[in-house]
Amino acid sequence: SREWHLLSRPVGWPKAEDFALVEAEVPQPREGQVLVRNLYVSVDPYMRGRMSDAKSYVAPFELGKVMQGGAVGEVVASNAEGFSVGDHVLHFLGWREYAAVNAKDAVKVDPEAAPLSTYLGVLGMTGLTAYAGLLRTASFKEGDVVFVSGAAGAVGGQVGQIAKLKGASRVIGSAGSDEKVKLLVEEYGFDAAFNYKDGSVSSQLREAAPDGIDVYFDNVGGDHLEAAIGSLKHAGRIAICGMISVYNNTEPAPGPKNLARLIATRGRIEGLLVGDHYDLQPQFVEEVGAWVRSGELKYRETVVEGIENNLEAFLGVLRGDNTGKMIVKF
Ligand code: NDP
Repeated sequence: SREWHLLSRPVGWPKAEDFALVEAEVPQPREGQVLVRNLYVSVDPYMRGRMSDAKSYVAPFELGKVMQGGAVGEVVASNAEGFSVGDHVLHFLGWREYAAVNAKDAVKVDPEAAPLSTYLGVLGMTGLTAYAGLLRTASFKEGDVVFVSGAAGAVGGQVGQIAKLKGASRVIGSAGSDEKVKLLVEEYGFDAAFNYKDGSVSSQLREAAPDGIDVYFDNVGGDHLEAAIGSLKHAGRIAICGMISVYNNTEPAPGPKNLARLIATRGRIEGLLVGDHYDLQPQFVEEVGAWVRSGELKYRETVVEGIENNLEAFLGVLRGDNTGKMIVKF
């Protein structure tokens, strides 16, 4: 069974030498465990944080040990009540071919109800982040003008579409390629979108939302956040979901220069952690699952094949190689 180890803590952009694909024994499931052969493995931006040892909301990956992350696999041996060989489960021991998973940390998923990879994306953690972040953290209401960055990614694409389905008056997205911009407008139904690499974010945002925005869903930070504060309408709200533009910085990034504008606009900025919102999961899957089945909500996945490409897939997320959720298929 092959598994990915973290060898050293990356400084700046992670390098191949910081990791190793290691041959290990297939683990034996102990009492209360199932042995899972992983089929789909998630690579996510937050994993960059776990590669460093800065204090955070999740523990750092341990050096010389296998990394972790969301995964969906098939039970190939069971030592736990309620789980049988052939069941499919969602769990947290990715970056490896075989995992011995505690039954309490495994959630059964139904391959008939939805493709297995979607439990990592549109109906999984990134989907819930979009749903809870927009509806709860950003206190979205009908008629809002919504701006979302990272809009062709897993979270962002879903934020924009849920906003439209829930009655946003205008949805604007930013992404890093013309192809992604085209997808947002032509397939996801955004009212406007721009390529942030084409020029200043604030001027492109002003052009796309001449009357300002009520909600900014931040996946990027930096100049995107600064531009959004600059365009915020009265009582506007900003949900801080991620700041991918700074994850590989070695120096602290300069902050937005216009935070004081929040006083005049009574604007609200609020951080979001998906882990606080799992109580919404049943409601989220019911509502969003129906939109996915009816085709009202579209999603993309970028699928990379093979455990040997697990690391490249992760780096690809940081570079923007993905459209929609990046998935590794074993
Ligand atoms: P995505 O699928 O959106 O992939 C990341 C995308 O970020 C890339 O495709 C790339 O697209 C974009 N990107 C990379 N560098 C930059 C940059 N410098 N400036 C602007 N865009 C950049 O990932 P997720 O949907 O999984 O995550 C999106 C955000 O949400 C991340 O910031 C992540 O950390 C955060 N998150 C937070 C959670 C929480 O609980 N708070 C939970 C899940 C995710 P492009 O081509 O457009 O540049």
